[in-house]
Amino acid sequence: MNGVESASADAPVRLRELTTLRLGGPCGEVAVAESEDALIAAVAGADACATPVLVLSGGSNVVVADAGFDGRVVLVRTRGISTGVCNDSELVEVAAGEPWPDFVAQMVASGRSGVEALAGIPGCVGSTPIQNVGAYGQEVADTIVGVRVWDRAAGAVVELDSASCRFSYRSSTFKVNPDRYVVLSVRFRLPLQSASAAIRYPELAIRLGVGLDQPADLADVSRTVLELRRGKGMVLDAEDHDTWSAGSFFTNPILTPDEAASLAPAAPRFEAGGGRVKTSAAWLIDQAGFSKGYGLRPDATVTISTKHTLALTNRGGASTEELLELARAVRTGVRAKFGVTLMPEPVLVGCAL
Ligand SMILES: Cc1cc2nc3c(=O)[nH]c(=O)nc-3n(C[C@H](O)[C@H](O)[C@H](O)COP(=O)(O)OP(=O)(O)OC[C@H]3O[C@@H](n4cnc5c(N)ncnc54)[C@H](O)[C@@H]3O)c2cc1C
Repeated sequence: MNGVESASADAPVRLRELTTLRLGGPCGEVAVAESEDALIAAVAGADACATPVLVLSGGSNVVVADAGFDGRVVLVRTRGISTGVCNDSELVEVAAGEPWPDFVAQMVASGRSGVEALAGIPGCVGSTPIQNVGAYGQEVADTIVGVRVWDRAAGAVVELDSASCRFSYRSSTFKVNPDRYVVLSVRFRLPLQSASAAIRYPELAIRLGVGLDQPADLADVSRTVLELRRGKGMVLDAEDHDTWSAGSFFTNPILTPDEAASLAPAAPRFEAGGGRVKTSAAWLIDQAGFSKGYGLRPDATVTISTKHTLALTNRGGASTEELLELARAVRTGVRAKFGVTLMPEPVLVGCAL
């Protein structure tokens, strides 16, 4: 299938079928793009008629309103991985719709180093630059050298180098300008070597039995990361409601020196550059009284994951409004106790905290 499907009154496509939270109401139409030309045509065609567009890949980082999305949902399903572009064997160019966990597994199996600690993160390759996906001390900004995009403002295909992507913690120019770019493909520099990139995450280093900032075996790193992630409900599993989430619901707050000075002494602190301090959203949430498994009511259909304080989960039959109600309660509780305002990590579509 490679075209636009209109949702009929009998069988409207519901966004809950396309998101890992399994939340979100109906949409006007769905275009499934299996080629780059189809992807550009689906977006440009909607833009030409001023039809709102929601580009969706794996649906693992979105919260869609119960009212749904009144416009065209463009599903990115392009495929293709090529290596050695421009005679450089370290470069790997990947189509936006390639599933990210499969891509990581393939790179590890073929002895390419640089994305092994990002094993098991749901979604597609083209979405990884959007929030500069990261975990266990690695982020895609470490290895992305360029992102090919359809620039909706210019009406042209453009290649952005890494600096132009303006990567930062869970952000990029794509996140800051949400309606401007459609990612077509991503180019990574992944050296052919059996050693991983330096391990920068203490919990991972301990599990691997290596020192911090030391490398380890590539396959060991991805296997260990997958074990750690499964223990936290961070690998998709349809049977496990702890994974019916959008991953971490809040980003770790980055505080100014003044804000950091007034933070509770026991709060975790990590150097974030320029005198700023990153603290742990999970710690703040837990200390504000919202522990694992917390729900607003005994029969709540949205709760904090039983395995991970940062994930808000659908226990079955939930609504987006219920999810937002819990998110607001958590944010209000943390603000009241610590004076820190948590920011949502997923993209909110048609709704707000
Ligand atoms: C269980 C679980 C664990 C997770 N763990 C992590 C983690 O460890 N680290 C982390 O960083 N994230 C994590 N996430 C969040 C999420 O998996 C990532 O952000 C992922 O990259 C989103 O990919 P996706 O294809 O599902 O994007 P989608 O949810 O489909 O889209 C997310 C955003 O990107 C836009 N977008 C999607 N594709 C394109 C495109 N081709 N061009 C332009 N815009 C596009 C969408 O419009 C939307 O705004 C986790 C999520 C879950 C459910």
